[in-house]
Amino acid sequence: MSQPATKPVPVPDEISAPFFAGTREGKLMLQHCTACGTWSFPVRERCPHCFAAKLEWRQSSGRGTLYTFTIMHQVMNPGFASSVPYNVAQVDLEEGVRMVSNVVGIDNKALRVGMKLEAVFEVAGEDVRIPKFRPVAG
Ligand SMILES: [Zn+2]
Repeated sequence: MSQPATKPVPVPDEISAPFFAGTREGKLMLQHCTACGTWSFPVRERCPHCFAAKLEWRQSSGRGTLYTFTIMHQVMNPGFASSVPYNVAQVDLEEGVRMVSNVVGIDNKALRVGMKLEAVFEVAGEDVRIPKFRPVAG
């Protein structure tokens, strides 16, 4: 007997642990550089703008807009077989960073570039939550 394939689950490491600790509490945490004042994502050790190792964790508003998206029809990983077609979206957060995620709670045909979104947190493993985005009015 074989188990149905499951989606891969992120494994937090030393650097990304605060990000995933935040998602478990329903908070979207981002790194903010205390040297130059910019936000960054993905998670990293140094600021991509000024290279200072002065990144601190701050809570994002979780709000953003849909920058672009595509619809996946191919099954590139067996864990996603029951999810196709699904969207892969780039979301511009209010803090000025772009995050790759999925928009949930809406039919793929209703997705529109520029629509307003807010973060929600999907259970992805025993102790892991992944940020997804859902439409908000306005
Ligand atoms: Zn910086």
